[in-house]
Amino acid sequence: MENTKKNLKWACVFLLLLIICLFVSVIHGQLSETAKTAQIMQYGKVVQTIDLQNIKEPHEFEITAINGGSNIIRVENVKIGIVHASCPDKICVKQGFITNGTLPIVCLPNKLSVVITNNNNELDAVTGGITK
Ligand SMILES: [Zn+2]
Repeated sequence: MENTKKNLKWACVFLLLLIICLFVSVIHGQLSETAKTAQIMQYGKVVQTIDLQNIKEPHEFEITAINGGSNIIRVENVKIGIVHASCPDKICVKQGFITNGTLPIVCLPNKLSVVITNNNNELDAVTGGITK
């Protein structure tokens, strides 16, 4: 009886370790991909840089434009998007979430853009083209 309990306990510990190992390897795999950084740009200037790999909890924040408009940006693990905007076209909201640097989110009326860059040489190529 006592032995079975002990075995069960060890089985649980083993299972827990296995889960932890699996979890760590998944996270490690994501990290070793390429670290992704989101840059929020307003009027051609970077106003905020967010490390998308380190988002513990999804959150939203507001960026106010000089023209009085605003965009609410939502950040989740490895993705970013605009969820609310004061602009009339709402093109930026319709674009949804982006997870890579292929297509930036642009809100023309509020002069806002969200770009994802890899933390390496691509960064200069992407931001250099847009800030000018
Ligand atoms: Zn917009």
